[in-house]
Amino acid sequence: MSQSSIVQVAVSGPFLSPLDYVYVESEGVPVVGGRVWVPFRNKKVVGLVMSLENSTKFEVVKLKKIDQVIDAVPLFTAQQLNLFQWASQYYHEPIGEVVSAVLPKRLRMGEPAEAKGMTHWSLTLLGEQASQDELPKNASRQRAVFEFFKQAKVLNQHSFSATNLSQALKNWQPSVKKLLQMGWLQESEAPCLAHSVYKSSPKHTLNEAQQVAVDTVINELQSTSSGFCAYLLEGITGSGKTEVYLGMIEAAIAQGKQVLVLVPEIGLTPQMVSRFEAQLCIPVASLHSGLNDTERHCAWHVMRTGQAKVLLGTRSAVFTPFKNLGLCIIDEEHDLSYKQQEGFRYSARDMIVKRAFQEKVPVVLGSATPSLESLHNVNEGRYQHLELKHRAGNASLPSLKLLDIRGEKIQEGVSRPLKIAMQSCLEEGGQVLLFLNRRGFAPILMCHECGWQASCPSCDANMTLHSGKGHHYLQCHHCTEQMPEPECCPSCGQSDEFIKVGQGTERLHEAIQDWFPDASVLRIDRDTTRLKGQMAELTGKAQRGEADILIGTQMLAKGHHFPNVTLVGMLDIDQGLFSADYRAPERMAQLIMQVAGRAGRAEKKGQVLIQTHQPDHPLFATLITQGYGIFAQRALKERIEALLPPYCYQILIRAEASHPQDAMVFLHSLKSGLTLNLQKINYEVGKIQNDKDQIEFWGPVSAPMHRRQGRYRFQLLIQATQRKRLHQLMSEMVPYIYKSPLSRKVRWSLDVDPQEMM
Ligand code: ADP
Ligand code: ZN
Ligand code: ZN
Repeated sequence: MSQSSIVQVAVSGPFLSPLDYVYVESEGVPVVGGRVWVPFRNKKVVGLVMSLENSTKFEVVKLKKIDQVIDAVPLFTAQQLNLFQWASQYYHEPIGEVVSAVLPKRLRMGEPAEAKGMTHWSLTLLGEQASQDELPKNASRQRAVFEFFKQAKVLNQHSFSATNLSQALKNWQPSVKKLLQMGWLQESEAPCLAHSVYKSSPKHTLNEAQQVAVDTVINELQSTSSGFCAYLLEGITGSGKTEVYLGMIEAAIAQGKQVLVLVPEIGLTPQMVSRFEAQLCIPVASLHSGLNDTERHCAWHVMRTGQAKVLLGTRSAVFTPFKNLGLCIIDEEHDLSYKQQEGFRYSARDMIVKRAFQEKVPVVLGSATPSLESLHNVNEGRYQHLELKHRAGNASLPSLKLLDIRGEKIQEGVSRPLKIAMQSCLEEGGQVLLFLNRRGFAPILMCHECGWQASCPSCDANMTLHSGKGHHYLQCHHCTEQMPEPECCPSCGQSDEFIKVGQGTERLHEAIQDWFPDASVLRIDRDTTRLKGQMAELTGKAQRGEADILIGTQMLAKGHHFPNVTLVGMLDIDQGLFSADYRAPERMAQLIMQVAGRAGRAEKKGQVLIQTHQPDHPLFATLITQGYGIFAQRALKERIEALLPPYCYQILIRAEASHPQDAMVFLHSLKSGLTLNLQKINYEVGKIQNDKDQIEFWGPVSAPMHRRQGRYRFQLLIQATQRKRLHQLMSEMVPYIYKSPLSRKVRWSLDVDPQEMM
């Protein structure tokens, strides 16, 4: 047999390394970083070529042949493939699953890498001459969509992509379809990166702290030894971090480089894109959950080919191939949405730092409330600290005040002093924001006669009462279970009198509207923003001052800029003080500072009132009198003492099954396997150097929510002071887990650096 090549291909499946194939030249020559069709379990699937190896080995004969080569040129560079390999090893995730996660759907299906463009819609001549009155009176959506096109035309804007329409209209798809059928609208293919007209906004002159931050990073960009360097940009809310990013981005672009910017998944991406385009006067590509497959493919394509200079995206955008990456930025780096919570459980924050390291470019992590991990990295000298301690422009930080509500009269969750403050805020023409992190009407429905509570048949959780559109119904917030509110008590059958215990945003909304009948009240939570475009519509209203009172869950806490909000009231946040999760205080402190940061962002000073039954709690004392920085340093000290992350490393193995013993047996066998393995490693290493240098097992124990969606859940935590040993132990074990018959009876997952113990 003549010399031939073994092609290592990553295909989706439980394989921790790529599979070997061979090729015959007539079907095309595969390239490293390009896709191929390969036979796999009686199917033809798309795989990514990770490497090629020359071989004259006899074994080659046994290997299957590649069916067809898809890409003649690589989609990914060697560095990018290295990043995927690293992620696969670090997260103990099959390489094929990593590759599936990084490829846009179109490319996973084997479509050509080149994106043709995306669909745009515009008025036809017929549509231009038509009038709204010709549409049926009750077709209000159609009228709105048609009117949008008409008005845009006056402003000289003719054609719109799906993203453009979603930003302006909700549920526009059926109406566009109808207007197409009527011949009033037409479809056309526009390039991936359509040049729009930018309403360029005047630039602010950076203040001193902003300038220092920008210059530090620019110097790194320009230095000849230019390479990796990580910065933590800690800037209080409203200090102008975005302005700083823009300054750095401009410098990178001036050098002909591309920039990757990650933002949290909170529906703010379109607004950020507009802000970036207005300042940079170039098209900015974006990737987020609101896009369709074509749009994703387009964004991916323009970055890979270098047609676009800036990509603004959520978590998974970190894997997008760039032609000439020069700078990485991650905004609100503490945000939990950067950790993928299912499947391939990577942290986009850690990935972007790793990527910057591999590609030798600077990375900037920005936040008003940095994660303890990043502050630890600053303390250790791994990250350089850049600080913005004052608000930009004429804005000043709001004053934070605790409202001791012990013994106070509380109505629908609102205390008298808060109500009075709301009254005077409204009289002064300000906007009020009420933060209540619980959607629905009431979290508990209880029988007045016997005490029965409505609970979910599939989960260990109460059903939340919702009062949507006149009818009341019960909904579980942990699964899809939904049912009507019972007419009489299912337990005692005696009573039709139910008590609604506790407050959700719907209930608060009703009460507030009663108390302030002349005020316009907007509720922003998952229920009011479910449809495409609703979030943008509501926050737009809030921003323009069209609402007097905003009620919101944590969706409203982050990133938004409501210049008129002068009073923020926080209700019912005490439960965060008593959580069993050791990260709860950190999250709570971040949330308080972020929500508080919505107040007084323009000229008028803001006030924040926090209702609590625990005014003496040390968390409040530190946070309110000394600020987040001191709070975080104290929290880090506690972590050292308790030997918790970031001073140790964790892997959480979860298992769930319809029969609890299946999950338990699986985790126990895993634990014994790991223990044996550990003894072996210890034996090979010699001995454990010191007592602290240990690997510990916690569990298996029942998960905090024992039953969910009808399955019983357990977990095993492995904790170590040395990351390397922990990973060595795990990587030897993982292949056995996949092979074990026990693992087939359960749903299991492996979470490296877990952020939530749920
Ligand atoms: P952050 O992201 O830090 O919360 P932003 O970047 O959103 O803050 O800026 C807050 C507000 O301050 C914005 O309205 C922005 O236009 C304004 N701003 C930023 N920098 C300056 C500056 N140097 N001078 C005046 N206004 C500024
Ligand atoms: Zn009853
Ligand atoms: Zn449920």
